[in-house]
Amino acid sequence: MTTASRQGGEADLAQVPLSALEHYTYCPRQCGLILLEDSFTDDAATVRGTLLHQRVDTPGNRGRGTVRTLHALPVWHDGHGLTGICDTVELHTDGTILPVEHKSGRYYPGGPADVQVAAQAMCLEHMFKRPVTTAAIYSGTDRRRHTVTVHEALRTRVLDTTNAVRNLLSSNHMLPSPVADSRCRRCSMATDCMPKLLAGTRHYQRALHDLYVIDEAQDDE
Ligand code: SF4
Repeated sequence: MTTASRQGGEADLAQVPLSALEHYTYCPRQCGLILLEDSFTDDAATVRGTLLHQRVDTPGNRGRGTVRTLHALPVWHDGHGLTGICDTVELHTDGTILPVEHKSGRYYPGGPADVQVAAQAMCLEHMFKRPVTTAAIYSGTDRRRHTVTVHEALRTRVLDTTNAVRNLLSSNHMLPSPVADSRCRRCSMATDCMPKLLAGTRHYQRALHDLYVIDEAQDDE
């Protein structure tokens, strides 16, 4: 994944992918590995997610009763520099716009998926010029939808995370440190990341320090 800047209009913001907000919220290092190292490793959970998305990732437009359903809808927010694709967006005849993000795993209230789907809602507001105050996450494990209220605190979280991802993108490929906690057990990137090996060890800290000593020396040449 590479960054790109929009020309003109609102500031030349580096564009932040919506999926990166979820990755960063889960673990900043996971986001760095994907965005900066172009690294991604599948495990059983991510393959399940890919299979689940095959149906909703096919662009389409279906109407049924009072709801028109759009699949794989590209969305963006010029002011916040966000861009991505919504799995499903429902357009109700009463004016309600409802983004629905599909996840294969269990739903965790207030978790990373909430930030991703709230960002989708903010993009849809920008595009349709209409309030989008509710979103939903369909959990394949739970086999049901969970409603997410897009309140002010969640919007602030979206913007803070967007800024954090943008800082990461401009960090000259400096990966965040591993979290090395229970999140690593459910992370498909653990083999690339080596969290236990690296976290807090003197060898890692020394190697990091030496790396930048070398860089500084080269800069002075
Ligand atoms: S293994 Fe742990 S530290 Fe490494 S990317 Fe995954 S969650 Fe983050």
